[in-house]
Amino acid sequence: MTPEFNLIKQYFTRPTRNTKLGVGDDAALISLSAGMELAISADMLVAGTHFFADCDAYQLGWKSLAVNISDMAAMGANAKWATLAIALPDINESWLAEFSRGFFACADSFNVDLIGGDTTRGSLTISVQIMGEVPIGKALRRDGAKVGDDIWVTGSLGDAAIGLAHLQNKLQPHFTLADHYLEYCLNALHQPQPRLALGLNLLEIAHSAIDISDGLLSDLGHILKAHNLGGAIYLNKLPCSIFTKQHQHEKQIQQYLLAGGDDYELCFTAPQGSRNAIEKIASDLNLPISLIGSIHEGACLIVLDNENKPISIGKTGYDHFA
Ligand code: ADP
Ligand code: MG
Repeated sequence: MTPEFNLIKQYFTRPTRNTKLGVGDDAALISLSAGMELAISADMLVAGTHFFADCDAYQLGWKSLAVNISDMAAMGANAKWATLAIALPDINESWLAEFSRGFFACADSFNVDLIGGDTTRGSLTISVQIMGEVPIGKALRRDGAKVGDDIWVTGSLGDAAIGLAHLQNKLQPHFTLADHYLEYCLNALHQPQPRLALGLNLLEIAHSAIDISDGLLSDLGHILKAHNLGGAIYLNKLPCSIFTKQHQHEKQIQQYLLAGGDDYELCFTAPQGSRNAIEKIASDLNLPISLIGSIHEGACLIVLDNENKPISIGKTGYDHFA
């Protein structure tokens, strides 16, 4: 066998659960369950743009699948299958072993099969395609929000951006992060937890949903733009760490909270009548879900401070081409 086939066999071939025919043939074969349609998405991670080339390979493997599963969560789809196209500058066995260990740890956590891909030489780039199932016509979309909807967000915002700022030496010197909080931020950055179970639970409840990859304001903006809607969110209701809460009026930290990116939390809108149902889901899943604001007429997104005064917003999110 050529080294390429050995490498695929050793690092990227595992028994499958949801699949008729997986890695090894010209194409994989899968069947959808009755009444389901296919949700498909891809995300590419490029060394130097999305991650540091010398970052931990296990966490990179985890993250490259996790960010894709997060897209399935945002659609209310159950992630089932993934393909992995990877360009490697050279064959580094210990790197590959760690990368695939992280990738499959994530795959096992969320019951996803790796069913194929491509392996080539090139500058380190990882492109994952994810496929999942969702009941026909029921997917959570960005274009479903209605005037009067509550706006909800999961988990905690801003921690990954603070972790990244620390690594890039961009945090202003008067901010000091306690060791355990820094570790938490770096973990949020490198090993995000997609909210897959929540997405599935929101199917008959949410009107619209998106996962927060480019920052809350930017991603919530996509939901609003679909029908030229407006929104108001309350700074003091945004879920965040104690550190972020303490510094939420300082521009740099406020920026990370509102527009930092890499959160991989879910933001969704739902009618006010669903509040009890959402609180029950939060407690069943043991996942904090915070009510942060509401949808209004008029294409404008405002952030209100403790005195209900709009605060001025700088950059609203991460744009690769800005
Ligand atoms: P082909 O020449 O038909 O494109 P390849 O030699 O690229 O086939 O791949 C052989 C098999 O290994 C295919 O089933 C392909 O899907 C799978 N494969 C290749 N690279 C990967 C990878 N990085 N992860 C998972 N499967 C892979
Ligand atoms: Mg190929």
